[in-house]
Amino acid sequence: MHITRTPATAVAAPSEWVTGKVWITPVAEPPEPSRTRIDSVRFAPGARTVWHRHPLGQVLVVTEGTGRVQRRGGPVETVQVGDTVQIAPGEWHWHGAAPAAAMTHLAIEPVPDDGAAPEAGEPVTDAEYDEAGAADVPPITRTVLLDQLLAAPRDTHRVEIRRITIAPGHAAGVHVHNGPVFGSVESGSVVYQIEGRTASVLGPGDVFYEPEATRIARFDPQDEGVTFLGYFLLSAGQAAEIEFPGAQGRIAST
Ligand code: MN
Repeated sequence: MHITRTPATAVAAPSEWVTGKVWITPVAEPPEPSRTRIDSVRFAPGARTVWHRHPLGQVLVVTEGTGRVQRRGGPVETVQVGDTVQIAPGEWHWHGAAPAAAMTHLAIEPVPDDGAAPEAGEPVTDAEYDEAGAADVPPITRTVLLDQLLAAPRDTHRVEIRRITIAPGHAAGVHVHNGPVFGSVESGSVVYQIEGRTASVLGPGDVFYEPEATRIARFDPQDEGVTFLGYFLLSAGQAAEIEFPGAQGRIAST
């Protein structure tokens, strides 16, 4: 038995394989004689693979969001969380996110004995991608992303919303906020961890909560940096402050 602890690091998919932002997180590559590899692949809204085929086919399991898939000659199909897509050996196809929603799927792929790699073809044009039209996207969608009890009831007098960008390689470091902070990632990705809890990797569209007066162990951007909106709940007369306990209690008005 071999356990890999989260978070595995996501890498950007090669540009000749995708249109838009796509990240790949290796999940498992069992040793020989197994020939199955599993990746988790996250597509930003509108992102998709190019047309391609796999020598022995592929199985996709949608784990988040709403996506689109198409095999050559077939209609564009919408897929949702929990849906499984089985792609036949050598079948030309593409897969990606819906226009207004990110999508993550597990990609389970047997590798042939000769190690032959999947074959990439033409990009999926906007016309091909949009063939599904508005049929699968209702004019208004409302999705609860987070329903969070606060650590304690509080009087919130103001909410400050900030757009914050952290460059690649620059980690926020262990820090504590003087009020509850909510956030949503706009672009890039970041490893987020409340001290003592499991770390997770957040990408575009993901939301998070940093409780008041709680040590946030990690908010570390990955390769492409991160831009997010932060919502600071403040009481009357309070200014948003961030403390870095590891740095002699340095306090910054962020
Ligand atoms: Mn595929």
